[in-house]
Amino acid sequence: MEKTVRKIAVLTSGGDAPGMNAAIRSVVRTAITSQIEVVGVLQGYAGCVANKMQPMTIGSVANIIQRGGTILKSGRCPEFHQADVRKIAATNLKNAGVEALVTIGGDGTFHGAHLIAQEHGFQVVGLPGTIDNDIFGTDETIGFDTALNTALEAIDRIRDTAASHDRLFIVEVMGRDSGFIAIDVGVAGGAEEVFIPETLANVDQAIQSIKRGVARGKSSSILVAAEGQKVGRAYDLAEQIRRKAGFDAKVCVLGHIQRGGPPTARDRILASRLGFAAVRAIQQGLSDVMVGVQNGQVVPVKFKDCLSKKRRVPQELIDLAHLLSH
Ligand code: ADP
Repeated sequence: MEKTVRKIAVLTSGGDAPGMNAAIRSVVRTAITSQIEVVGVLQGYAGCVANKMQPMTIGSVANIIQRGGTILKSGRCPEFHQADVRKIAATNLKNAGVEALVTIGGDGTFHGAHLIAQEHGFQVVGLPGTIDNDIFGTDETIGFDTALNTALEAIDRIRDTAASHDRLFIVEVMGRDSGFIAIDVGVAGGAEEVFIPETLANVDQAIQSIKRGVARGKSSSILVAAEGQKVGRAYDLAEQIRRKAGFDAKVCVLGHIQRGGPPTARDRILASRLGFAAVRAIQQGLSDVMVGVQNGQVVPVKFKDCLSKKRRVPQELIDLAHLLSH
C-alpha cells in the first residue's frame, strides 16, 4: 500500500564516495516528480543536530551527476553516539516537517540511522555509499567501482616505471578493515601478491613469488597492500621484505586520490537506481532498511542484517590472484 509522504530529507555521511552526488540527484528528482518536497541536510548527522537544512529543487541537483564528493558535504559527528543528541536530531527533522530520511553512507552511517529509526520511530532508508564495498546485503556499494578504477590506473602507470627500472613496487590502496579494492585491483592489475586485512600478510609467500619471477627472467614486480588498520602498512612490508630477502621495494601509497574524481558510469547508474529505489521504499512505508543490489536486482535489506553480518572477500578471488601471479 502506498503511503502519502509530503516531505523527506537526504544527507551524506562518513567518508565521501564518488557517486554520492548522483544518488542525491536521483533521490531529489524522484521525490519531486512524485510531489514530495526534499530538504538537503548539510554535513551528515551534524547538520540534523545543528538544523542545517536547505530546500532542494530539480535545478539544485543539475550538473552534479559527473562530480565526485558530495554537494551536501559529509562529516563525522561523534556526538551522534549519544542518545540525547540523536533525540535533538529527530526532533529537528520532525519540527521541519520531515517525515522520512534518506542516509547515504557506510556502516557507521547505518548504525546512526538504525538507532534513530528504533528510538524515535523515524522512517529511515539508507543507500550504501563507501569506496570500501564492505556492506553486507549489497553486491556493490556506490563509489567502489570508481575507486577501483582509479587504483587500477595508478598501478598501470607504476608498472611502466617498475618495468623500465627493473623495480619492485608495493602499492598501498585504501581499505581499513576490508580488502575489496586490494583484491580486485590485484587481479585486474596483475599483481604478484596481494595483502588484505582478512588474511594474515604472508611475506614469505610474496618473497617466493618475487623469486619465481626473477628465476624466469622477470625483473619487475608489483605487490598490492590494503592499508589495514594503519596507513603506511606498505612501508612495514617493504622493510620486512628487505630484511628477509634483501629485495629493495619502492612504496607508493595511493591514499585519498582513490576517494575523489568523476564517478564511473557503473557508479552513476548504481547511485541513480538506488536513489530512485529509496524514495519508492519510503512511499511503500519501509523503514530501518538499506536499499542494495543483489544479483542485479534492487532489494531492501534490514539495517540490522547489514550491521550484524560481515561481507567477506570471496576466497575464489584470493586464490585466483595467487594463481595468476605465477
Ligand atoms: P561510514 O558511514 O563511512 O562508515 P563513519 O563510521 O565515520 O563513516 O560514520 C559516520 C557517522 O555515523 C559518524 O560520524 C556518526 O555520526 C555516525 N555513527 C557511526 N557509528 C555510530 C554509532 N554506533 N551510533 C550512532 N551513530 C554512529
